[in-house]
Amino acid sequence: MHILRLQSLILTIVIFLVAPIGFAQNIQQICPPNWWTGMNDPSVQLMIHGENIANYNLKVNYPGVEVFAVTKVENPNYVFVDLIMGENLKPGTMNLEFSNGTSVFTQPFVINQREKRSMDYGLDSKDFIYLIMPDRFANGDTTNDVASDMYEKYYGRTSLTARHGGDIQGIINHLDYIKNLGVTAVWCTPLLENNQEEWSYHGYAATDHYKVDKRFGSNELYKKYASESHKRNMKVVMDIVPNHCGSQHWMIKDLPMKDWVHQWDTYTKTNYRTPALLDQYGSEHDKKLMLDGWFDKHMPDLNQQNPFVAKYLIQNYIWWVEYAQVDGFRIDTYTYNDLKFMQDAATAIFNEYPGLGMFAETWVDGVGVQGYFNGNNNLNTGYNSLLPGVTDFELLWSINNMVQKPFGWTDGLGSIYLKLTQDYLYGDANKNVTFLGNHDLSRFFSVAGEDVNKMKLATTFILTTRGIPQWYYGDEILMKNFTNPDGKVREDFPGGWQGDSINKFKVENLRGDEKDYFNYVKTLANYRKISVPITQGKLMQFVPYDGVYVYFRYTDTQCVMVIMNTTDKPVDLSTKNYAERMKGFTKGKNIMTKVELTNLNSIAIPAMSAQVLELR
Ligand code: CA
Repeated sequence: MHILRLQSLILTIVIFLVAPIGFAQNIQQICPPNWWTGMNDPSVQLMIHGENIANYNLKVNYPGVEVFAVTKVENPNYVFVDLIMGENLKPGTMNLEFSNGTSVFTQPFVINQREKRSMDYGLDSKDFIYLIMPDRFANGDTTNDVASDMYEKYYGRTSLTARHGGDIQGIINHLDYIKNLGVTAVWCTPLLENNQEEWSYHGYAATDHYKVDKRFGSNELYKKYASESHKRNMKVVMDIVPNHCGSQHWMIKDLPMKDWVHQWDTYTKTNYRTPALLDQYGSEHDKKLMLDGWFDKHMPDLNQQNPFVAKYLIQNYIWWVEYAQVDGFRIDTYTYNDLKFMQDAATAIFNEYPGLGMFAETWVDGVGVQGYFNGNNNLNTGYNSLLPGVTDFELLWSINNMVQKPFGWTDGLGSIYLKLTQDYLYGDANKNVTFLGNHDLSRFFSVAGEDVNKMKLATTFILTTRGIPQWYYGDEILMKNFTNPDGKVREDFPGGWQGDSINKFKVENLRGDEKDYFNYVKTLANYRKISVPITQGKLMQFVPYDGVYVYFRYTDTQCVMVIMNTTDKPVDLSTKNYAERMKGFTKGKNIMTKVELTNLNSIAIPAMSAQVLELR
């Protein structure tokens, strides 16, 4: 018997010696896979997953590290180890020593030196965010298109719901194209492994929180993408999904505890009714359904009230910021999460990275509903998300109204004006993310009836009003289509694949309208980038009349005037009503046409167009 034991010990040592990197015998996962010195929060909780790992005793002997608690849970394949990493901690490899009386093995755990950030992180109104759906943008590496060991097969590019092969290398290859457009930050829809049977391309059903999907690249390539972005002075926005993960996630297939996810007797989906959360007449039934119901059958709803789940997710976000130097988070399906958890997550993230960019997806109706999720808002509900901003769907509804309905008291520009008058509800409306489209919405060109003039009007608005504008890939070349199915608004960027019949990343290949519009966006976005009044100044708007709307972006010394004419007739605008802001300015430069205006008393605006004038 003891000979067997000795053999097993020798075998363990041999395995450890020949395979010092990776997981030891009996260990499948350690989350987080490594950590850093010098973090503001000295505590780290390791979730260790391995067959019957709970039957082992754990010893850690590393200067500066103290084991605070080892917690065994319902499933013996997990232990949770709370560590305190002291101030004197040095980088190195810490050994986790497991023994159960008959066998001993060691698992190395690396502690890295925390790196200094190479540039300022965070997001504010100086930014212009470009949203990419990586599977549909550009295929920079055809060798990763097919992954035969993953559940979803490769069906080629004709299927709207299958993977097309776009990847991180494809994005890196086009960072200069993106920068040239005037962009300062890129938000990619999630890149984590989604080893699901179908629809894995969209990325919102993670099956590993610490691993980039191999069909997109690797963790190392993601890190390179971040560093290539930073080299170009562009920021990295990571899309995080705290609400749910994929049904094929290894921890879903072997749940640490039954209440790791919200359990229902039969599949129960959310009611998708965000307002139920703040409705003073609302029922607990509706609230529970909203929060604990599953977003989709293949997306188990994580129970963030379980403190181990909460810690797991929060550490994961901090890990990615530290690992890849992420600059900001877009938080998916924000309103479906446990709100206390989301507040704790924001607190923990800001504790490590004060001012990190964060904005929540709040796909709702009503400024009062949207504002509820905006940090430091003035609604006095007792809830504070602490988030700088939210996705401004409310403003989008007004922009849609502007291009679809004639001017009226509450319609067209009237809708835009009224919407902005409600900004007092937000903590800081300038941190709201404004947009014309995203991967879930009909392409704005289609929403605007394929009218380039309307497209330009709306573009001018989001690039000059308050907020952080966000762009959806391909809108600059007038990609179109309505949703339903979603794949219609997630088409491949023409030229992103070798052998595409046309490469629209090259401006010379664009058709008349496309080229004209592309240059419009590029000129305005690059002007915006250097305009202090637009990116850092105040906003003053005037009541719109007869389909014409005037607003100003200004500082103490500089002023930009924006005039929007949504009528089908040219207008000679008398400016006497705007003296409050125009006082002292005698000339203006149309920043799109470069034409100098020497008489500001009356300004001619062509039908269905906008003018951006830098006053002098
Ligand atoms: Ca590929």
